[in-house]
Amino acid sequence: MGIKTLKIVCLGLLGTGVLFVAGCGGSNINVARLSDADRAVVEQVVKKLEPMIAQRRSQGDIAALSFEELYLPLNGEERAFLRQFQNLDTRLLNITIPYQGIPSKTPDLVVIKGQMMKLAENKTQEIPPQFLPRDVYNAYMAMTAAMKKDIGRMLYVESGYRSAAYQLYLFVFYLKNHDYSIRETARFAAWPGYSEHGQPIHQAVDFVNERGIDGQNDPAAFEALEEYQWMLRHAERYGFKLSYPHGSKMAFEPWHWHYSSVSQ
Ligand SMILES: [Zn+2]
Repeated sequence: MGIKTLKIVCLGLLGTGVLFVAGCGGSNINVARLSDADRAVVEQVVKKLEPMIAQRRSQGDIAALSFEELYLPLNGEERAFLRQFQNLDTRLLNITIPYQGIPSKTPDLVVIKGQMMKLAENKTQEIPPQFLPRDVYNAYMAMTAAMKKDIGRMLYVESGYRSAAYQLYLFVFYLKNHDYSIRETARFAAWPGYSEHGQPIHQAVDFVNERGIDGQNDPAAFEALEEYQWMLRHAERYGFKLSYPHGSKMAFEPWHWHYSSVSQ
């Protein structure tokens, strides 16, 4: 179905005198639940993007995906829909995180590879490649060296820069898990521009310790780490600040820090 169904829906609606029509390049996307026509385009877009996404994942550079690269495999109709989707009025989505902004171009990124965690029972697990803007990477390396010297431990980067384009793809991909409700999906997936992970001037880093403790299921476990306690005392000197400490409006996230240059 897909395109054929969509065209019929468009013509039908145009026939009733509606000026701008959902799914036909208008701006009437229903954020509570996508229309069947819009849902068909979403399925088509996800399917079309699959090979490119799989390839970028295997290359290990998916987090740096640009909007140009995201739109490239799509045809005109799919591009128009995705652009319209991307430009939705976010006030309709009840997003609680403040807008962070989208960089106009991909920042100068350093890739971090070979971070090997030592889990229980002598198992090891390598973290997939992560990206950090160069200044953040340098600050992270300096901080890590100091931590290692002080307490003999360090933290790895579990998640660094994730582009707004990749965030857009993930959002569209996850729609199917939430009955094609954009508003519902927005409760679980970040809308492009609303994540500190996509904003290099305020770059977020999710840390994990060498034994794989990241606190994401149990914040208290990360909070109890000597590495975390060291961060509370020293991280600011290297430009890192806790984004969501105890008592903020957001849930406490001891693993999630952001960087801003010390001179600012
Ligand atoms: Zn985070």
